[in-house]
Amino acid sequence: MEKEVMIEKEEGFFGKFGGMYVPAVLAGKLQDLYDNFVKFSQEDNFKKEYLNLLKNYVGRPSPLYKAKRLSEYVGSEIYLKREDLNHTGSHKINNTIGQILLAKRMGATEIIAETGAGQHGVATATSAALMGIKCKVFMGNTDTERQKMNVNRMRLLGAEVIEVKQGQGTLKDAVDAALGYYVEHPESYYLLGSAVGPHPYPTMVRYFQSVISQEIKKQILEEENRLPETVIACIGGGSNAIGAFANFLNDDVELLAAEGAGEGLDTNKTAATLTLGKQMIFQGADSLCLVDKEGNPMDSYSVAAGLDYPGIGPEHAYLKEIDRVQYHPVTDEEALDAFKLLSELEGIIPAIESAHAIALAIKELKGKNKLAVINLSGRGDKDVHRL
Ligand SMILES: *Cc1c(COP(=O)(O)O)cnc(C)c1O
Repeated sequence: MEKEVMIEKEEGFFGKFGGMYVPAVLAGKLQDLYDNFVKFSQEDNFKKEYLNLLKNYVGRPSPLYKAKRLSEYVGSEIYLKREDLNHTGSHKINNTIGQILLAKRMGATEIIAETGAGQHGVATATSAALMGIKCKVFMGNTDTERQKMNVNRMRLLGAEVIEVKQGQGTLKDAVDAALGYYVEHPESYYLLGSAVGPHPYPTMVRYFQSVISQEIKKQILEEENRLPETVIACIGGGSNAIGAFANFLNDDVELLAAEGAGEGLDTNKTAATLTLGKQMIFQGADSLCLVDKEGNPMDSYSVAAGLDYPGIGPEHAYLKEIDRVQYHPVTDEEALDAFKLLSELEGIIPAIESAHAIALAIKELKGKNKLAVINLSGRGDKDVHRL
């Protein structure tokens, strides 16, 4: 998309990262979105409706489960935050429920969204069905082929799935197509799925996902009477990670994130944006992005569709720069080993995305006897064909 206007406002920036780099027609719309978000998110009846749906529709609070056999295996005390048990099977619904309530309050008559593997598309279609609002999901044609089951789920939920044929037909292209549609149909509500893109999305998505770390804090204090020493999450665009970290940023808690290294850092089949990315403006924000030799955004790769994105949320670029969060690449192979290991040790089949966080925990916590929480962002029913 075009890089026309930027809003120079501190509220959209995380250090030198973030901002709103969008065409003028969108800038006004996004500013209006932010103003509405600020207004409604402070209203008691909005909060009440959001929390009520999280409780009775999503099934929150999600359990904080002490994984005894994994703890023994690793040599640390490990709890799993069970986002895999949410309705639709991952953390993504926390955000879609929050934004759909906002869309409804703003009088939107149509929801649009982008999706890669289809997880965000399914969560959006679910939330739109719940509210009785029309929904269009943009998805690359490579992905609609690869993820037929999620395409069928979205259609069953009443959403229209629009196949995007440009580019490689993957997530990056779906985002471009959704942004393009949004520019032409400013009456629609664009429900973005991660803590990425132009202001106000990184801020809004973090707000709705922070429920994860609010709950972790309360639950671990109840169980252990102290804070964890380490919190670990996987990172695609960065929404489950920022949700799991948000309420620990000012505490003496080590924060680790696992990004998809794909086939390795020295191959070009990787999604390790924080390790290898360069600062640039990409899809509406100034952040890090994987680039090719000419300096253009390149196609990423990870076995985990949810981690397969060349960009990254601007707050994470900032948290890396100030050294508050450590970002580690985890290869496909390491993630697949952890996928199998957790299934066998705990009877929990993790999403292949979440398995990256498990793999990182095994590497970083081995024999350290630390109290740690791993955010298990989703369940692995969609990934069982991997083995
Ligand atoms: C989408 C997804 C991710 C990656 O997205 P973030 O915005 O980085 O959280 C991770 N885990 C699961 C299960 C997902 O569906």
